[in-house]
Amino acid sequence: MTAMRTENSNETRLREDICRFGRSLFERGLTPGSSGNISVRLDGGGWLVTPTNASLGFLDPARLSRLDDQGRLVSGDAPTKEVPLHNALYDTRGSARAIVHLHSTHSVALSMLPEIDPRAALPPMTAYYLMKCGATALVPYYRPGDPAVADAIKGLAGKYSSVLLANHGPVVAGDTLEAAVFATEELEETAKLYLLLRGMNPRYLSPEQVSDLVKVFGVELPQLSEHERECVAKPSDAEIEAAARVLDEAGRHFHWWDKSVQPYTDPIAKSEFEGIVEQMLIATSKTRSR
Ligand SMILES: [Zn+2]
Repeated sequence: MTAMRTENSNETRLREDICRFGRSLFERGLTPGSSGNISVRLDGGGWLVTPTNASLGFLDPARLSRLDDQGRLVSGDAPTKEVPLHNALYDTRGSARAIVHLHSTHSVALSMLPEIDPRAALPPMTAYYLMKCGATALVPYYRPGDPAVADAIKGLAGKYSSVLLANHGPVVAGDTLEAAVFATEELEETAKLYLLLRGMNPRYLSPEQVSDLVKVFGVELPQLSEHERECVAKPSDAEIEAAARVLDEAGRHFHWWDKSVQPYTDPIAKSEFEGIVEQMLIATSKTRSR
């Protein structure tokens, strides 16, 4: 009886927290209209999530959708169409207790830039970005509610707590709701800094400064394999071929490109393509000179 009461009061508090944080995010313009959604795992199994077509600014604790472990509606309004996003991240990241998804302007803008590395959407700009978000993965564009987005997130194998959906927005997991909200805010502010400094050759944190943060604060960065690390330093033929394929298919989401491999490919305009190649060559020479 006591255990049941504790669980209920815990759920009551979590329902209030979702509405309180949702309102704060909405009022600061971090997700407009009825965009964005929040979910929290419940101790007794299942989870709470914000309903479909609900503005995060005007949530009602009693009408939040309560889902069981299989994602079926138990009570409340119909859940957001973006439940598969949340499911995929919970499935692959055992430590995730809460997930925040926003359509926040600067993060969405960042997701559309041609030079973004899908394994590190932002460079190591500040200590707090690394401490709260680790590294951010970029997944390609999917229509909202497309179940294929879940496969893309599962493909990251739980290595990332923060994921950017191209032309859409961030999805961030935390071990508490507060941690997930604060990490999402940190990602948005870092994306804003990146846009402010783009093209100005800013000084990012050095590899030594990053490893110092990893050591002192236990920052969790995705462990890339030896092969993946080599590719970051020097593109292999296979990597270049893969980039060419991706360029052909999607136009924008590729990492390395070699001008000699293939001439300009639709749908990227010649001038845009040359700009991308130039930025990548600058990035390569920087990596090599360190
Ligand atoms: Zn969305």
